[in-house]
Formats: sequence, C-alpha cells, structure tokens
Amino acid sequence: MGRYKVKVAIFSARTYEESFFSAANQGQHQFIFFSESLKEETVAQAQEFDAVCCFVVDVLSAVVLTQLKQRGVKLVALRSAGYDHVDLQAAKSLNLPIVRVPGYSPESIAEFTIGMILVLSRKLLNAYDNVRRHDFLLDHQIGFNINQKTVGIIGTGKIGSLVAKLLLAFGCKVLAYDINPNETCLLAGVQYVDLNTLYQSADIITLHCPLTATTKHLINEEVLHKIKPHAMIINTGRGALIDVVALIHAIKEHRVAAIGLDVYEWELDLFFRDHSNDIIEDDNFIRLQAFPNVLITGHQAYLTQEALTAIAKTTVDNLTAFEKGLIQNQVA
Ligand code: NAD
Repeated sequence: MGRYKVKVAIFSARTYEESFFSAANQGQHQFIFFSESLKEETVAQAQEFDAVCCFVVDVLSAVVLTQLKQRGVKLVALRSAGYDHVDLQAAKSLNLPIVRVPGYSPESIAEFTIGMILVLSRKLLNAYDNVRRHDFLLDHQIGFNINQKTVGIIGTGKIGSLVAKLLLAFGCKVLAYDINPNETCLLAGVQYVDLNTLYQSADIITLHCPLTATTKHLINEEVLHKIKPHAMIINTGRGALIDVVALIHAIKEHRVAAIGLDVYEWELDLFFRDHSNDIIEDDNFIRLQAFPNVLITGHQAYLTQEALTAIAKTTVDNLTAFEKGLIQNQVA
C-alpha cells in the first residue's frame, strides 16, 4: 500500500515558489498551489485539505482559523519566520497547531540590511539615475563612511546578531537592545544599552525584533524626537514597528536623515502584487515614496535562492513530521 500523502493547500503561491517546493517535496506530499491569499473570502478552498501553507500576507484571524478547523484542516504550516499575522489565542483554543520556518536564512535578511545601509549612505540610487541621464555632476552625491559610525540594533536574535557581526567587520561601534541579550554578540564586542541610550547615540538604527504588542510603533513621535537628526533608520523587521505618520512628520522636519524600509505597516494592501496600473489609495505610502531620502522595497529582504530552498525544505520536513504524528517548529 502506498504511503499516505499530506494534502496541502499552498496559499499566496507565487510561480517562482512552485519549483522550490517541488524540488524539496520529491512527491512526498500533495501540493495544490493557490495564487489567492487565504482570507474569509477564500477559506472555502481549504475544504478537504489536511494542511494549509501560508505566507505573511495570508489572514489567519480567529474567523479564518475557525473555518479551517471546521473544514477539517489539521495543521497550518507557515512559510515564514514571523507569525504576527496569526491569532495565536484562537489557534490555541481551536487546538489547531501552527508551525513555522524559524530560521531559514538569516544571512539573506542581514545582507539585505547592509545593502540598504550602503545604498543610502552612498546615495547609490541617485548615482544610478544621474548616470543614466548622463548627469555626472557630483554636487549632491557626498555620502558618509560606515566605518567608525555608531549603529544601534534592536533585537539581536538570528538576524540582528548577524547584522552586528557584519557591521563590526565594517569597523562600526555596535550598540544593541534586546530583552534577552545574546552571549555571542557580547563576546564579539556588541555593547548592550537601554533604548534611550541607543536612540540618542546611534547614527544608524536597525530593527530586528519581532512585532508584538510591546514593539508595535516602537519608533514613534517621542522616539523620533530623541534620535540624532542625521540618523538613518532601517526596518527589515515588520512594518508596524514604525509609526508611519510620525515618521513622515519627522522626515518633513529634517529630524531623520535617511530611511530604508523593506516592510510597511499597511503592506497587505500593496505588496506582492502588480499595482502599476492602479490608483494607489494609501496617501502615506505615496508621501513616503516622494521623499528623496527614503528607500522602499517590497518585503524582499528574504528573497534569495538559499532562503527559498531552506523555506521549502523546512516546510516539507514540518509536513513529514506531521504525517508521523509529530508537531515540530510549533509557534509557541
Ligand atoms: P529571532 O527570534 O531569532 O530574534 C528576535 C530577537 O528579538 C530575539 O533576540 C528577541 O529576544 C528580541 N526581542 C523580542 N522582543 C523584543 C523587544 N520588545 N525589544 C527588543 N528585542 C526584542 O528572530 P529573527 O529570525 O532574527 O527575525 C527577526 C524578525 O525579522 C522577525 O520577527 C520578522 O518579523 C523579521 N523578518 C523579516 C524578513 C523580511 O524578509 N523582511 C524575513 C524574516 C524575518
């Protein structure tokens, strides 16, 4: 008798993901790819599936989780590290296990973070535009060295600790804040300080903590009044770590010098889709885009061959464990 295959509905599936999942799966489980995101309007598609596989754009609210449970779904396999988009309380009371991919390639996000810092510190986007227009004047192109700068890292887990390591190699002074300081970082020369000291001392602030009730709008009006006016802020964590309205206000008042955002609080309505022929209704996003010192990317810090390979492999492993009656990489 053939082995039972776990039947999995993969929501928000992009075409490029299918080859990574097929390569990792080797026919072990049955995958059906849906390009639509999982939400109340699409949850009916999960009927008769053992598991759903979800991304950060999928809505895992109490209503959707209840519907999944009622439709016989027994596992939610996130193909992300972050799980701030899941109503964990509801999942727990429904006894519906949520598993994730905890650390697929922290290097991908850490390297992207350094890339954003360099693009902004050396004004590379302007340089690219100018040269394409055959404007070789360098009058507005003066940047600054990363070397000797003070960087403040908030969250020194898998990604933040790698960012620290790379910045130490640049010759930066690295300050950090974390509710659980990392021994490896300490040994490498990172200095843990309180948040106020970090805000007041850092030339570059980079966010690598999860989005929780405590960290929502961590960077707010009050904080934006404390930072150095020439400071750069990088967010490759989660959009809602920054209060966007306060940020726009601070940029307009020249209280922050450069911003790199790979994530945006209201990205659900924008990112991962082609809106090039649409009227964008989010005025804050358009305002942010209009600033010359803001670099925005569409939640792609993780997007490398290595990360996609690891995400697919761990997801397949999570499903194989489930098939054997085990739950691994469960979200706490
Ligand atoms: P991790 O769990 O290894 O590290 C998170 C760190 O944040 C931990 O050390 C934890 O102690 C710390 N922390 C928790 N609450 C804190 C608080 N209130 N203040 C300060 N520090 C706090 O996670 P990770 O793998 O390093 O990922 C970090 C975050 O990066 C994820 O939660 C996710 O939101 C984001 N992420 C973004 C992308 C992307 O493509 N842009 C990809 C993966 C992860």
